[in-house]
Amino acid sequence: MAQQTERWGIIGGGILGMTLAYRLAQHGKHVTLFEGAPHLGGLASAWMLGEVVWDRHYHVTLMSDTALRALLAELGLAQDIQWVETRTGFYTNGTLYSMSNTLEFLRFPPLGLLDKLRLGATIFYASRVHNWQKLETIAVTDWLKRWSGRHTFEKIWLPLLRAKLGENYKHASAAFIWAIIARMYAARRTGLKKEMFGFVPGGYTTVLERFAEVLTAHHVSIKLNHKVQHVASADGDEVSVTGADGQRESFDQVVLTMPAPIAAGLCPTLSAEEQARLRGIEYQGIICASVLLKRPLAPFYVTNITDAWVPFTAVIEMSALVDRHYFGGHSLVYLPKYVTPDDPAFALSDQEVEALFLAALLRMYPDLRRDDILCFRVSRVRYVLAISTLHYSTRLPPMTTSLPGIHIVNSAHILHGTLNVNETVQLANKAARQLAATVVPQPSLLFTNQG
Ligand SMILES: Cc1cc2nc3c(=O)[nH]c(=O)nc-3n(C[C@H](O)[C@H](O)[C@H](O)COP(=O)(O)OP(=O)(O)OC[C@H]3O[C@@H](n4cnc5c(N)ncnc54)[C@H](O)[C@@H]3O)c2cc1C
Repeated sequence: MAQQTERWGIIGGGILGMTLAYRLAQHGKHVTLFEGAPHLGGLASAWMLGEVVWDRHYHVTLMSDTALRALLAELGLAQDIQWVETRTGFYTNGTLYSMSNTLEFLRFPPLGLLDKLRLGATIFYASRVHNWQKLETIAVTDWLKRWSGRHTFEKIWLPLLRAKLGENYKHASAAFIWAIIARMYAARRTGLKKEMFGFVPGGYTTVLERFAEVLTAHHVSIKLNHKVQHVASADGDEVSVTGADGQRESFDQVVLTMPAPIAAGLCPTLSAEEQARLRGIEYQGIICASVLLKRPLAPFYVTNITDAWVPFTAVIEMSALVDRHYFGGHSLVYLPKYVTPDDPAFALSDQEVEALFLAALLRMYPDLRRDDILCFRVSRVRYVLAISTLHYSTRLPPMTTSLPGIHIVNSAHILHGTLNVNETVQLANKAARQLAATVVPQPSLLFTNQG
């Protein structure tokens, strides 16, 4: 096959689709990138909060994010990353604690010394585990109770699991918590014992704008406002991509990068087994508020919350990391609430979310006044995070489908990591290598897991 003339369609202009498009273009493919929104970036895109332009969802880079940092170097941005030492807070029983170092951890009143030792041992042990496949066979609840003990599980782990996974925590395997611990430990293994987080000045807008320029320079055709509605194999080994406006285009190969249930809907001719596998992946969604404040709340980038009355999962104070001059001298805080895709909270209006969240924020931070709040905006996404359920990797569909020329690669294929841009870039790099080498084998040979 004359590879340089192959026409590839990539659907979804998030970081995954953009990186895939870039790598395939570097492999000499002729690439078209379709994005339904008016801008690139998906979950990493920016929006306006009053006069401030910043990420719609909070984003930081870790020192151990080597794939992302390598990509930023290719985009000419690596040297711009600003690294900042951050602190972590813990809100429990109505009190805000600093939990940023071993001493603070040892002083943490809600747990006795033995509980603390077991909690520390759990984290240390998890950071040493390499065989994550084994952890996929154990429920996260059983594993945490075994290592941390029932008291610490009830007091610390259960509220944190509920905060991130809602009632879905019951289906998650121990690989879920292992991936989170492994990511935080990897950052420390870079040699620094401190927790350093980084950002590119201007936030992800800077990254996305530069990335779009580089894609264009590599002759990637970017089609914004182009929501794809249907993808199917067509005559003559081609794949047809039909937009919401009814426009049809043909490609040799197509890669869909959006969440699995949405991809399944776009490819109705996939086999019943493939449909079932894609739709069987359990997701968590998010309702994430951005709040612009006249003043800082606390010195913590992340404040974990265990009190069940608080309607959001955590407080992320971006301005504890990013200098306030980026925010017009104000403070930028995110209030995420992780929810299942069918959670009734998705039906709440912006005003209802604002009333609910602000009442809790004012209660948590008694010095905060209502007139300190300058701006409040709500983002809602139903499918954000594929949950690593029991035996997850064995149930995941392969990237290449049974339909000739149609591939589905999305964040559900991140097998031993959490959802983050570094894993996303790594997945795109790997998928591009595999797919570029594809010589369209027999569909019957393809149904093996390549995740
Ligand atoms: C609250 C939150 C906090 C996060 N914090 C961090 C962090 O601190 N650090 C970090 O590294 N990562 C973080 N992440 C993760 C990071 O944002 C993701 O890893 C990354 O953006 C995923 O990119 P993606 O391309 O896989 O998915 P998406 O960004 O979801 O991209 C999919 C794209 O497909 C498009 N699309 C969907 N359907 C169609 C269609 N029919 N036609 C055309 N286009 C379509 C969508 O519009 C979207 O642009 C965070 C994510 C969230 C939600």
